[in-house]
Amino acid sequence: MKSKTITTKTPEATEKLGEKLGRLLKGGELVELSGDLGAGKTVFIKGLAKGLGIKQAISSPTFTINRIYEAGPLRFYHFDFYRIDLKDIVAFEIAEAAADRDGVTAVEWAENVAGALPDEHLTVSVKAADQTHREIVFTANGSKYQTLISKL
Ligand code: ADP
Ligand code: MG
Repeated sequence: MKSKTITTKTPEATEKLGEKLGRLLKGGELVELSGDLGAGKTVFIKGLAKGLGIKQAISSPTFTINRIYEAGPLRFYHFDFYRIDLKDIVAFEIAEAAADRDGVTAVEWAENVAGALPDEHLTVSVKAADQTHREIVFTANGSKYQTLISKL
């Protein structure tokens, strides 16, 4: 059978259908959900997770690409790219790294993710003056960095 159409009349029915599919899965399957916003993809996935034996409530991933549910017999990876703006993820990852008091973060090509940098940062701009000479400009964004570059 190449295709099959099942019409559901209620969200519950769609969830049940997902649950049915979930019970049939053995591991190693990839299920793609497509359809417009509000079509019922997440409703279906909630059922799917139930069918996989996952007791936790499924909530759409935010600020992360996926959510992983480990409690069931099979691990369940839920990806949902609807609310994902890659810039948000990038900003979140950078902010997380930058918040690490035991760490230092360097970001190249930050202009490709405009707005993703925390306000306070040091900009180091490198420009080739010729083959061998480089003009390196340090710009302090925030007083901490002013102090710092004064020591260079
Ligand atoms: P999606 O993830 O595709 O954007 P959701 O699953 O979050 O959509 O939402 C589907 C919405 O449609 C829910 O509010 C649900 O109650 C409603 N709905 C109405 N009828 C159905 C149905 N037969 N199956 C699934 N959802 C339905
Ligand atoms: Mg959804």
